[in-house]
Amino acid sequence: MINASEADWLHLDVMDGRFVPNISYGMDIIRAVNSVCEIPLDTHLMIVEPEKYVEAFIDAGADILTVHAEACTHLHRTIQHIKELGARAGVAINPHTPVESLFDVLEDVDLVLIMSVNPGFGGQKFIYRTLDKIERLKKEITVRNLSVTVEVDGGVGLHNAEKILQAGADALVAGSAIFSSESPSDTIHRMKAISENKM
Ligand code: ZN
Repeated sequence: MINASEADWLHLDVMDGRFVPNISYGMDIIRAVNSVCEIPLDTHLMIVEPEKYVEAFIDAGADILTVHAEACTHLHRTIQHIKELGARAGVAINPHTPVESLFDVLEDVDLVLIMSVNPGFGGQKFIYRTLDKIERLKKEITVRNLSVTVEVDGGVGLHNAEKILQAGADALVAGSAIFSSESPSDTIHRMKAISENKM
């Protein structure tokens, strides 16, 4: 068993079988996890029409609610809705989506999630061209003096954490790297140690 409290947040991937090919779980699981987990629930909605479910997921316990830009026709409105309901608002983009497409909502979001694999399945390899995208995003956030968290999700592990942090990531999401390791808690500690020495 893993002691998830050793991580700073617990990242939960919600998949609907439409936005991504896989199906995972919905708000009932978020609610159940929330009842036994004290660290913030970082909830990543890989679903179509996420605006329909924003309230239900926040009510279930999502502290950070991230929607995909590609799934939102009215992204600005959805971000405002998440914040009005008291959660931190995140926007995720797939590997093919230019990060510049988020620059007009950058002042409104709390977090940008850069997908470094095509979402839907665990255990994929990190797409290295994403590093350039992280750098471009971080530069824009710094120039505008915003407090937006840059989170990177997909193929992240001990082998590439340093590079991703150097590119400008503030938060790393790791699934397989932790759950498939011999000692999940040790892997979390090692990843956090890399992060603390990142400069
Ligand atoms: Zn995720």
